[in-house]
Amino acid sequence: MNALTLNRRTIMLSAAAGASSLVVPPIGGSGRAKAQAASSLGGNSGYYHFRVGDIRATVLSDGVISGPPRVYASDAPEAELRAVLRHAFLPTDHMNLNLNTLLIETGGRRILIEAGAGKTMGPNGGRIFENLAAIGLSAADIDAIVISHTHPDHVGNLRTADGGKAFPRATVFVPKADWDFFVRTDPDLSYMPVPQDFRARFAAAIQNSLEPAKKELALYEAGAEIIPGLTTIVASGHTPGMATFLVHSGNDQLLLTADLAYHPVVNVDRPWIPGPDRDKETALASRRRIFDRAATDRIPVLGFHFPFPGLGRLLKTDGAYAWVPANWQF
Ligand SMILES: [Zn+2]
Repeated sequence: MNALTLNRRTIMLSAAAGASSLVVPPIGGSGRAKAQAASSLGGNSGYYHFRVGDIRATVLSDGVISGPPRVYASDAPEAELRAVLRHAFLPTDHMNLNLNTLLIETGGRRILIEAGAGKTMGPNGGRIFENLAAIGLSAADIDAIVISHTHPDHVGNLRTADGGKAFPRATVFVPKADWDFFVRTDPDLSYMPVPQDFRARFAAAIQNSLEPAKKELALYEAGAEIIPGLTTIVASGHTPGMATFLVHSGNDQLLLTADLAYHPVVNVDRPWIPGPDRDKETALASRRRIFDRAATDRIPVLGFHFPFPGLGRLLKTDGAYAWVPANWQF
């Protein structure tokens, strides 16, 4: 049974007006911070190979985005937030978030989980293409792209600078509830703790990024194995349709937590609530349910925004959690 055709629902919509690419600038952040982020990306490897059973897996970095720590820890007391960041040797004026997309190669197909930000959320995204090249692949080698939710940092690379389809052969799997909320209607983003003009560019970046993929789109509802070895898990709250993923082969598993947490220092080791969570109660319930599963079953975890390569495990502590990074494998 071909899951790609099983769940495919091709959506034909008239092309969105205004093809100029919209760039959502980083939320705040000083020029010095941006320069530091840029220089920190030079020279080092942006890919990381490992295996999940018979599945060959590679974390491909798309670079980083950044914003004020407050956005990612909306309910943290100010002094405590600053102290936690200082204790983690992190800057207090901005927080860098990694963009850890995952390539899985299984059954003769190459599937990319998350497309990455491209330049939709600042200048330090869009590195996935050079990291694909570094492992001998190009965008044309990707057969399917599975998106956890449609925020720009997860879909931005779907569109080329001139408005074309960046992954020419790929079917793009998008959660149906996100499509309905962010693309089919004009979303009310007043819940997001960012200025109104940022929200407008954010919404436009989603529409623009997804527009070239509309002809090869597969809308999905989380909870099923949509590709052999890749099961989607309901994790709504951050967005209406957000899914997380379980990659599995034989006895091996990898749990991808998408945006249940932005940075482990503030959303795992501390229980602070990400400001962009649209339905904070539902998101909190999803976070606890999936973190509990990872901790109880000791499943290796990949955090999309965690420090590269984003692999580790979640530990349950007294009523809370701790992030334990995995040892680097050479
Ligand atoms: Zn994200």
